[in-house]
Amino acid sequence: MYLKKIEMHGFKSFADEVKLEFEPNITAIIGPNGSGKSNISDAIRWVLGEQSAKSLRGSKMEDVIFAGSDQRRPLGIAEVTLTLDNSDGSLPIDYNEVTIGRRVSRSGESDYLINNSVCRLKDVEELIMGTGMGKEAYSIIGQGKIDSILSNKSSDRRGIFEEAAGITKHKKRKDKASKK
Ligand code: ATP
Ligand code: MG
Repeated sequence: MYLKKIEMHGFKSFADEVKLEFEPNITAIIGPNGSGKSNISDAIRWVLGEQSAKSLRGSKMEDVIFAGSDQRRPLGIAEVTLTLDNSDGSLPIDYNEVTIGRRVSRSGESDYLINNSVCRLKDVEELIMGTGMGKEAYSIIGQGKIDSILSNKSSDRRGIFEEAAGITKHKKRKDKASKK
């Protein structure tokens, strides 16, 4: 599985619709300070269910919506869609290509989408659980994350290995079942 495409519209500094397409090998994104590199990784984490505005470097969730500039008025909606190549079947869904989307409006309406159908955050979480792609997983290593991995409690470190081994989802299901 790999990230094939990111489409952003109204997310942070991306007022115009932006489409980034990636090949399966290594991609580096370069640009001057403040040009929006980190906003791209914020967009990925946001789609995958990030709930903390602070960790997206804002103070409230509305801060992910384009706030306007000297030349442009603020926008009312932010929308991001990731397209994942699933031809190796890593995601438990019977499609070679899977899209995951999220949108939010200033009025507070918010939706998650899988293959363009509205779904719950839980559906997105279950889809990506065990792939290392979840917001708490290791596919996005932000500045400072290395230190926290090294200095964290052993149970947190074990969590990283459990996710890599693909057993997180089984543990979650077991916990859920034993709570009933
Ligand atoms: P650096 O090299 O310093 O890490 P970067 O390329 O990672 O920079 P980002 O942090 O992604 O840059 O982008 C920051 C820019 O995004 C700032 O100019 C900020 O004003 C703009 N920005 C963030 N949120 C919004 C928003 N809601 N509306 C408009 N612009 C925004
Ligand atoms: Mg940055």
